[in-house]
Parts: sequence; C-alpha cells; structure tokens
Amino acid sequence: MFLKGKTALITGSTSGIGLGYAKVLAAEGAAVMINGFGDAAEVERERAALAAASGAGALYSAADMTKPDEIAAMVKECADKLGGPDIVINNAGIQHVALIEEFPIASWDAIIAINLSSAFHTIRAALPGMKAKKWGRIINTASAHSLVASPFKSAYVTAKHGLAGLTKTVALEAATFGVTANCISPGYVWTPLVEKQIPDTMQARNMTREQVMNDVLLAGQPTKQFVTVEQVAALALYLCRDEAASITGANLSVDGGWTAA
Ligand code: NAD
Repeated sequence: MFLKGKTALITGSTSGIGLGYAKVLAAEGAAVMINGFGDAAEVERERAALAAASGAGALYSAADMTKPDEIAAMVKECADKLGGPDIVINNAGIQHVALIEEFPIASWDAIIAINLSSAFHTIRAALPGMKAKKWGRIINTASAHSLVASPFKSAYVTAKHGLAGLTKTVALEAATFGVTANCISPGYVWTPLVEKQIPDTMQARNMTREQVMNDVLLAGQPTKQFVTVEQVAALALYLCRDEAASITGANLSVDGGWTAA
C-alpha cells in the first residue's frame, strides 16, 4: 500500500484505461476521484468498489472536460474532500474519424478541448498544491498518435502531439519541486471502445472478426496483440513510485512496437 496518504484524480475514469488506473492506485491505498460519463448506478458501483479497495475514500465528479470552470471546481472538490491531488492522470479522450475537408468543426473543437485543453486546466489548478508539498505525479494518457500520424484523425493526432508537448513543458517547470510529468502512449488497447467498433467494421469491410482484428486494428502493431488496460495501468503505478523520481518529460510507448517501425 505504497500510496497510503496520497490522493489521485483521474479524468475519464468511468471506463476503459482510466478505470484501470483508478483500480491499481486504489489497490495501493490512494484515495481516488474518478470522473467521466456513464450510467449513474454503474458509476456508483465502481466508486463504491474503489472506496472499499482503497480504504481511504473514493469520490465521483461528473465534471465535463470541455468546461474549464467545471474542471477547476473538480480539482477544488478533490482538494477539499480528499486532499491533494498528489497524482493527476489526464485520460479523458474521444475520437472522430473523417477527412480534414469533411471534419465537423464541432468535433475538432470537442477533441481539442477534451483530449488536450482539459489537461492544461487540471494541471494549472493542481500544480501549485503539488509544488507546495514538494511531491507530485502528472501522467497524461497520450497515444502512439502523439508520435506518428494516421489519416482521418487530424484532431486526435493534433491533440495528442500537443499533449506530449505540454507534458515536456510541465516537466521542466516542475523539475525542482519533486513533481514529475510524463506521457504514456499506448497503441491499440483492448477496451470496450475498441471492441464496439468490430461488428460495424466487419459489416463495412465484409470481413471476419479475425480479419478486422489482424488486418485493420492490429495492422500497425508488430506484436499482433492488443495492449491490455492492466499493462498501461502498471506503468502508471510505477511512475508513482519514488524510484521513478528521475523519469520526467518522457513519452513512454506501450504500443507493441508500433512506433518502432
Ligand atoms: P473510453 O471511451 O473507455 O474512456 C474514455 C473516458 O473519457 C470515459 O470515462 C468517458 O466517460 C470519458 N469522457 C469522454 N468525454 C468526456 C468529457 N467531455 N468529460 C469527462 N469525461 C469524458 O476510452 P479508452 O480507450 O479507455 O481511452 C482512454 C484514453 O486512452 C483516451 O485519452 C484515449 O485517447 C487514450 N488511448 C486509447 C487507446 C485505445 O486503443 N483504447 C489507445 C491510445 C490512447
């Protein structure tokens, strides 16, 4: 329980990778604040399970990551009710796939707000408390798309490259305060989001499930294996250890070799 006495705030943590982070941090005794959208009863079930695992409390914030004032209020609520946050994981993210000339302006604006600007807002609100305590961990879920591009994902690739740049700047500004800032950049991770795309893609491309997995989703991932939520979460947990104090400003790939190619 090496995180006893610490508080973690994780955006976009009602499902997928974010919930995976919350589970490993709570299992090490951190108080956690989760955030995101979802069925109220399901979210409450997750929150209660995290509170039980942690023994130090778990809260849910419904703050919308497109709204800077709601983000600031979420960080304040975390500080007031749980303390900290000592660990901030910026993880909320959405995707839209279209040619640039057909890309809906509202989708561009939403992706930049949720996948990039929300991290600026959480860090801006949480960093002073971390600096004062001389300890903090900022972890941003970027993507292989923070390092390389794919067609049809202009907003996502732009936001994730921006998030990698923001991470480096924060790392430099916080370096002498015991605060690290890093990106974790997964390739394709097996989450409900990815699983849900398979039936439509099978139909659209007249492919079997195996063909969609191997020839579409895993085409660029040399291991031909999906990354797991647990593998991503384990790296985040390591970054929270005192042994990781010298890892800062890094963009850590967990992508089955995608960006090595
Ligand atoms: P997911 O859809 O399971 O989780 C996204 C989370 O963000 C959910 O909790 C959702 O409610 C929340 N969210 C969405 N819009 C929000 C908003 N306006 N305000 C607050 N919360 C909001 O997806 P995931 O696959 O777990 O993705 C999590 C992160 O990992 C994202 O940043 C994504 O870009 C990144 N990522 C995912 C993969 C992958 O293959 N799944 C690969 C690389 C990077």
